[in-house]
Amino acid sequence: MTHSTGTLYIISAPSGAGKSSLVKALTDAIPEIRVSVSHTTRAMRPGEVDGVNYHFVTREEFVKMGEHGDFLERAEVFGNFYGTSQSRLQQTLDEGHDLILEIDWQGAEQVRKLMPQARSIFILPPSLQALHQRLTNRGQDSDEIIDGRMREAVNEMSHYVEYDYLIINDDFAHALDDLKAIFRANQLQQKRQQVRFGKLLAELLG
Ligand code: 5GP
Repeated sequence: MTHSTGTLYIISAPSGAGKSSLVKALTDAIPEIRVSVSHTTRAMRPGEVDGVNYHFVTREEFVKMGEHGDFLERAEVFGNFYGTSQSRLQQTLDEGHDLILEIDWQGAEQVRKLMPQARSIFILPPSLQALHQRLTNRGQDSDEIIDGRMREAVNEMSHYVEYDYLIINDDFAHALDDLKAIFRANQLQQKRQQVRFGKLLAELLG
């Protein structure tokens, strides 16, 4: 055997739990891990780059892609559409890369049905107070918007039971260690190691 496929990971969290920062730090530490870039109809935030954070598309373009069957999963979140394009997904896994989908619980539910081998991780904040603080620090949003986000966050968090792994993001470095441990343990599976160390195994066993 010369080839092993990567693992598909789903990572979900309520907005404000620090998911994007953790995923960024994870891929900085383990660059072989790929992150899928979703399509969205929401407006670009300051600092975001089209094709990097998301592929930003119009509602018409999104609907058309859906009709063409381009999406593995899609969902409406905060009144905007989000979806994972199928096009490069299988190829990335076939090349042996682990691939992360940063999606909400609705998308996770769809992906689990289609790809039961996917592993899923849920990230929680250490307290409601910390979550509120993080949502408030983000920008100049009104109390009403922040209250709405808190309600959405509690709804998202209620789905943690559907996930394989649970990480509490209290201390960032600790949470990052936890996240790395999940990926590392999976990479050490005998079947994957057999591919990576084929030459050594052949030498050892003659
Ligand atoms: P944001 O707009 O803050 O980047 O993301 C809002 C929510 O949409 C987050 O919970 C995020 O995980 C989710 N999301 C982002 N991309 C996708 C996607 O492709 N599919 C689904 N189902 N959810 C997504």
